Amino acid sequence: MAFRHLPANSAEETLAALKEHGDDGKVFAGGVALSILMKSGVYEPDVLIDIAGANDLDFIEETENGGVRIGAKTVHRKIETSPLVQERFPLLADIFHNVATIRIRSQGTVGGNLCFAEPASDPPGAFLALEARMNTRKADGTERVVPATEFWTGYYECALDEDELLCSIEVDPLPDGFQTACTRFTTRSKEDKPCVSVSTAVLTEEDGKTAREVRIGLGGVEAIFRRLTAVEEGLKGKELNQENIDAVLADSLDDLDPLTDIRASGDYRRQVTPVLIRRTILKALGVS
Ligand SMILES: Cc1cc2nc3c(=O)[nH]c(=O)nc-3n(C[C@H](O)[C@H](O)[C@H](O)COP(=O)(O)OP(=O)(O)OC[C@H]3O[C@@H](n4cnc5c(N)ncnc54)[C@H](O)[C@@H]3O)c2cc1C
Repeated sequence: MAFRHLPANSAEETLAALKEHGDDGKVFAGGVALSILMKSGVYEPDVLIDIAGANDLDFIEETENGGVRIGAKTVHRKIETSPLVQERFPLLADIFHNVATIRIRSQGTVGGNLCFAEPASDPPGAFLALEARMNTRKADGTERVVPATEFWTGYYECALDEDELLCSIEVDPLPDGFQTACTRFTTRSKEDKPCVSVSTAVLTEEDGKTAREVRIGLGGVEAIFRRLTAVEEGLKGKELNQENIDAVLADSLDDLDPLTDIRASGDYRRQVTPVLIRRTILKALGVS
């Protein structure tokens, strides 16, 4: 396996390299996913554009409205341990804290995780529940803001063009009163990639029980990460207890299209997914 290693020390250099090498070039971020594909011979790039030195893509900063902007090259561990993220977005701190092992979290980047779009991933569901936006750039200077709901387009596919770089992810503060929780369910070991990964953000009426808005981001189950909008709509105005949530899930999850893979069969996922969604909603409300 012969390839050219091309260090790119900024977003600008990365974009220039993507323009020059087109289909032959591949961004190498943490390399966690890419090196496995390369070692196993599944993927043989001609040019690896190594962004290890692109420090302008490595940051966590507060936005003007009190949200957070995270550079695409930021490693999971840095997000998990960021005081800003922990204070404003405990859901993100929690989800990144539970990805794989500390070794992988110290190497894998948020951009690599989101762009690789492997169904068995945790952060996409959380970014969906938080209604994140992906900031991208191309070498010709074009910039796009892609809502999380439009970022994942297929099995291991995201909305980026060949010469487009994910630069940062931005999350606005949740309106007052929202409570969040996530559940990652594994079938092999605690550190394994998720069989089912659910993230929720729940806002109730003043009684603390009736749903005003429920957001559910699902990963691990289907080929594409998505919000469960039919379930979210069905829950609106209902008291959030086990019986009501289960009834809505029974009515509104007909379109679930679960994968069969090494972690579980589609039938198994179909059975456990509603249970995990219900538990995650109740967990957000502090009911276990
Ligand atoms: C044993 C193991 C266990 C794991 N467990 C989990 C888990 O429990 N949950 C989970 O969510 N994930 C898990 N992962 C995945 C891991 O967290 C990383 O997210 C993933 O490996 C990719 O990150 P990376 O930075 O290494 O990306 P890379 O391997 O460098 O790149 C992956 C892909 O993204 C592209 N890319 C990277 N950055 C950009 C960018 N800025 N713009 C455009 N394209 C880009 C690359 O070109 C490549 O196609 C696991 C991985 C392993 C090996």
